[in-house]
Amino acid sequence: MNTLLEVKGLKKYFPIRAGLLGKTQGFVKAVDDVSFTVHEGETLGIVGESGCGKSTTGRSIIRLLEPTAGDVVFKGQNLTGLKGEELRKMRRDLQIVFQDPYASLNPRMTVGAILEEPLKIHGLAGTTERRQRVKDLLDIVGLTEHHYNRYPHEFSGGQRQRIGIARALITKPKLIVADEPVSALDVSIQSQILNLMKDLQEQFQLTYIFISHDLSVVRHISDRVGVMYLGRMVELAPKHELYDNPQHPYTQALLSAVPHPDPREVRERIILSGDVPSPANPPTGCAFHTRCHACMEICKTDRPELKQTTEGHWVACHLY
Ligand code: SF4
Repeated sequence: MNTLLEVKGLKKYFPIRAGLLGKTQGFVKAVDDVSFTVHEGETLGIVGESGCGKSTTGRSIIRLLEPTAGDVVFKGQNLTGLKGEELRKMRRDLQIVFQDPYASLNPRMTVGAILEEPLKIHGLAGTTERRQRVKDLLDIVGLTEHHYNRYPHEFSGGQRQRIGIARALITKPKLIVADEPVSALDVSIQSQILNLMKDLQEQFQLTYIFISHDLSVVRHISDRVGVMYLGRMVELAPKHELYDNPQHPYTQALLSAVPHPDPREVRERIILSGDVPSPANPPTGCAFHTRCHACMEICKTDRPELKQTTEGHWVACHLY
């Protein structure tokens, strides 16, 4: 499989400012040295609890947020150095679907205008062609051309997410970062949107980075899954390998709370003690050591590197 995207040592720190002069007092290390690759045509799921840095990772990759350090190499080109026109051109290939389609769609614009806007910005088609492309795409995502002149508030949550997906698709991107795309939807609608995303992936040879806190949803759609904790990638493996043989104690705890698809398989529930520590002041060594039942002395001082334990299975833990 060809590598489409390579993320190397990605960091995103947010300054903590205080006092009258707004002096920087420290940093929230939302993403702290994350590396992984994404292959052409695959779906890489990224899971973790709220605040683990998964959304910040996705947004830093497509430069909605400016990374603090690291490289994002897309189709052989380093995106972190791009500016102006070069960055704008590259953005056609990298799109995002947000969690809340209502908040991300301009309520004063019709659906047609919302979907035509990226084509205008990128100068991709003339007026007639733009209109036709939007109508075709509405059909592809399960809406109709009659929706062209409607406003976002006239749609249900599921339909709005279809519009969000259409907007991401309109520039014919290669990679889509889907940031909790079904979390705000009713369970009955979630599977419709997930199936739509799968169909579109096949039809347009798309590559997804699918971000979610929901392990069942990620299992449904992903080929490989990465688990993040406190700004770091702690485990990364093909889906079946990760779900059947989780190695990192954090992944094991997360999965122990998810019902196994085979009801004969009963997992012992691992209860995580304490809250996630603040990313402004993460624990030394392994960031998970304050909650880990297998913590050893070395874990308190030495940060474990992400290492390959078996073919394609990467784990950051001193147990391996
Ligand atoms: Fe637990 Fe140590 Fe592994 Fe961290 S490195 S997950 S503290 S055993």
